[in-house]
Amino acid sequence: MTKNDNHPSQGIPLCVPEIRGNEWPYIKQCLDTNWVSSVGSFVSRFEQEIAAAVGSPHAVATASGTAALHVALLAAGIQPGDEVLVSTLTFIAPANAVRYVGAQPVFIDAEPTYWQMNPEKLTSFIEKECRWKEGRLYNRKTSRPITAIIPVHILGHPVDMDPVMELAKKYNLTVIEDATESLGASYKGRPLGSKGDAGCFSFNGNKIITTGGGGMMVSSHRAQAEKVKYLTEQAKNDPVEYIHNEIGYNYRMTNIQAAMGCAQLEQLPDYIAAKRRIAAEYQRAFSAVPGITCMAEAPWAKSIFWMYTVLVNEQVYGMSSRTLLRQLHKSGIQTRPLWQPLHSSPVYSNSPATDCTVSESLYESALSLPCSVGLPPDDQAVVIEQIIAHAA
Ligand SMILES: *Cc1c(COP(=O)(O)O)cnc(C)c1O
Repeated sequence: MTKNDNHPSQGIPLCVPEIRGNEWPYIKQCLDTNWVSSVGSFVSRFEQEIAAAVGSPHAVATASGTAALHVALLAAGIQPGDEVLVSTLTFIAPANAVRYVGAQPVFIDAEPTYWQMNPEKLTSFIEKECRWKEGRLYNRKTSRPITAIIPVHILGHPVDMDPVMELAKKYNLTVIEDATESLGASYKGRPLGSKGDAGCFSFNGNKIITTGGGGMMVSSHRAQAEKVKYLTEQAKNDPVEYIHNEIGYNYRMTNIQAAMGCAQLEQLPDYIAAKRRIAAEYQRAFSAVPGITCMAEAPWAKSIFWMYTVLVNEQVYGMSSRTLLRQLHKSGIQTRPLWQPLHSSPVYSNSPATDCTVSESLYESALSLPCSVGLPPDDQAVVIEQIIAHAA
């Protein structure tokens, strides 16, 4: 085993970047031409290429996926004191972005089949716990207006978007898709991020493509994209005199990061194929292992299987997900549970939420397995062998 558990130099890591394309020549071009900072041709090229890849007319590069969510909420006019409906089973970033604008998250449980935001619980929350008054939706308990939904497409798989969009239309809610884990996945043939009012992506190190760190917001509204660009550049109204009408942010992506992004994006189809190949192999190998449930793909979805995750049924498998995690760790195999559902996170435990029992049970039993794009088949065979060996 290695000295640093998060970065095993031997052993099998959970999910590491894959750099094998034009990253070197594109970054070298930035260095050779002195275009290293936040202005440069790679930034606009990366924006255009992401927009084209996800079928959205406008894209704005940002410093991170979290920054993209923050400015998307600001540009959508979400106000302090508003409430925003967010998946509870997700990495914490979308809920934090809601707090950055002074709004409050309301947590919605996951559904048990694909582990995504549950449209039925979303509907029943809106129809039973809220009141529709003069064209606005209000939470009956808190009396706060509800103005947006952030469906988070977790682990590479889409949320069932049609019911979400229907509710949004009916109740005048903004939809900001958190597609940070799901670039390249699609819902009923349509790439994620392009259905809502805005879609957000991340190019953090563990995402399907990476720029080291970075993000992007896509939008079908030109005005919203322009507002986001403005906010990410310190809200500069006059670039010569430095006149500012609003408080802005330094949320820009650098040309070096965008150069890496352009190179990574060229390889996205190959990366998705690799992720799907890895998923199919796990699925095949575990079909006969009692107590291991594999990730599913809905008939209406194309998943990119970003983070391959299984459920471990302690009674049937003979060991809990956390015990299995420790056993695999001893063999140098890095795995990880899902995130603590946000409604039970110490920082959000006072927030309103639906019944979230499904997320709680998924949290208890889920384990993410090594699934780097470049995972060697021999390494995957070792992971599979170990999981079979620990079964009761
Ligand atoms: C990675 C991620 C983000 C944003 O991540 P950054 O590290 O800020 O780029 C947002 N939401 C979810 C669900 C994520 O997994």
